[in-house]
Amino acid sequence: MKTFLDWSAYDTYGIGDAYSGIPATGGNYAKAVAVCMHSRDCQNTGKGVMCPSYRITGDRAHSTEARVAAFKAALNGDYGEKSFDDPRLAESMDLCVSCKACKKECPSSVDMTLIKTEYLAQRHEILGVPRRTRLFGGVPEWTGRHRRLLRLGIFLRNKSKVLAKLAERFLGITSRRPIPLPAKKPFAGFESAADGERGEVILFVDTFCHHFDPEIAEAAVTVLTSSGYKVRIAEPAPDDPEPSRPLCCGRTYLTTGMVEKARGEGKRVLAAFRPEIAKGTPIVGLEPSCLLSLRDELYSLGLGAEVGDLGKQLYLFEEFLVREHQQRGLKLNLKALDLPTALVHGHCHQKAFGVMKATRKLLTLIPGFKFDIIESSCCGMAGSFGLEAEHYEASMAMAEVSLLPAVRASAEATPIIANGFSCRHQIAHGCGRPSIHIAVLVRDALALN
Ligand code: SF4
Ligand code: SF4
Repeated sequence: MKTFLDWSAYDTYGIGDAYSGIPATGGNYAKAVAVCMHSRDCQNTGKGVMCPSYRITGDRAHSTEARVAAFKAALNGDYGEKSFDDPRLAESMDLCVSCKACKKECPSSVDMTLIKTEYLAQRHEILGVPRRTRLFGGVPEWTGRHRRLLRLGIFLRNKSKVLAKLAERFLGITSRRPIPLPAKKPFAGFESAADGERGEVILFVDTFCHHFDPEIAEAAVTVLTSSGYKVRIAEPAPDDPEPSRPLCCGRTYLTTGMVEKARGEGKRVLAAFRPEIAKGTPIVGLEPSCLLSLRDELYSLGLGAEVGDLGKQLYLFEEFLVREHQQRGLKLNLKALDLPTALVHGHCHQKAFGVMKATRKLLTLIPGFKFDIIESSCCGMAGSFGLEAEHYEASMAMAEVSLLPAVRASAEATPIIANGFSCRHQIAHGCGRPSIHIAVLVRDALALN
C-alpha cells in the first residue's frame, strides 16, 4: 500500500509481540495502528482529555480502541478492496477531533491524529477532496491570496441569516455559529532596530495570528523586545514560490488529509529556517497547534534530517520565556495586575506536549497573579470540526463537558486565558465571554516605566 505520510518510525513496532495483530496490509502504517494493547483507558471519563468523542457519547464505538479495530478490519481486507472508502470506517472516525490526547494519555501512545491524516488522504485519493475540505484546509492560502474577498464574504455571511443558511446548504458550514472573521488589518511585521543584549529570536507568526489575531503577535513582540531580545519575524526564503504569503505550519492541511499541501508548507518552512538552523537561533511560536505541528507531524512528511534539528529550536512563547528564566537568568520585569483569580484553559495540543507546566510557571512569574487551570477535555471546536454542520451538536457537547460550565460559573470579570484560536472562539460562542492569549496577559503585566 502506498502511504502519503512517512511511517518508518514504526518499522520495528510490534514485530515480536504475539498479540499485536499487525494487519495483513499497510506496512508500517498498519504497525502504527496495531500498537493498541486494549487497556481501554480511552473509555475513561476522569481527569485528562482522551477521548472527547467517548466522553460525550459514552459509546465504545466512538473510542480510540474502536477506531483501531475499524482500521485493523480495513487493512485486513474485511471491508473489501477500497476499504478507505467504507462507511464503517467513516463512521468510526466521524467524531475524532484530532486532539492528540491518545498520543499522550493512551499507555501505548496510539497516534490517532496522524492515523486520521493518512486515512483522509487515502479517502481523498478514492473520492477526491470535498469542496468544504478544500475551503477549510486551504485557510492559509485563502487568507494569503484573497484576504479582502474572504473577509467580506465572512462578514456578510455572519450578518445575514439567509447567507448562513445557504452556506449550510451548499457548503455544509453550520449556520448556528459565526465564522471567525479576519482582522481589519493583518500583522504589520516588525524588525528590532537595536541589537538585543540577550540575543536574537525569530517570531513565527502563524496564519491565525497573522490574519485573525495580530494583537497577539504584537504583544509577543513587545514582551520579547522589552526583555532584551532582538526580534525578527519569520519570513519566507528569498526563492520561495510565494514570498508575500506568510509561512504556515501546514496544520489545516494535515487535519483535513491534504498531505501534499502540508508537505509544500513544510518545505517552505524548512527553506526559510535553514540559515537559522545553522546558527541555532531560537524560533518562538504562539498558536499551540501550529508550532507543535512543526515539532511533531513535520517528521512524518519525509523532509529529511533537518526536521529534527529545527525541532530543537522551536518553542512556544511560554516555553521560551520560562527556559530563558530558568537557564539563562532572564528576569521579566512584571508588575502585579489588579485582576480577580483567572481561569486557564489549555489547548489539547498544549496538554499533549506537556506545555501546561511552562504555562503555569510563566503565570507564577506575574507578582501576586492567581489562577485556576480548568480540568477540561477538548473545547470541541477543534479547527473546523465545530463549523461543520453535522458536527455542531457534538462540538457543543464537548465544550459542555467541563469548559463552558467552568467559565459560566466564574464571575463576569474573571480573566480567561486560552492560547488556542479555536478554544477562544468556542468560549466566546458558548458563553459570550472574551478570552486572551498568555502573550497579551504578560504584555499587560510589563512594568515598562
Ligand atoms: S487505544 Fe490506547 S487506551 Fe484505548 S484501548 Fe488501545 S491501548 Fe488502551
Ligand atoms: S485524537 Fe482525540 S478524538 Fe481522536 S481518537 Fe485520539 S483522543 Fe479520541
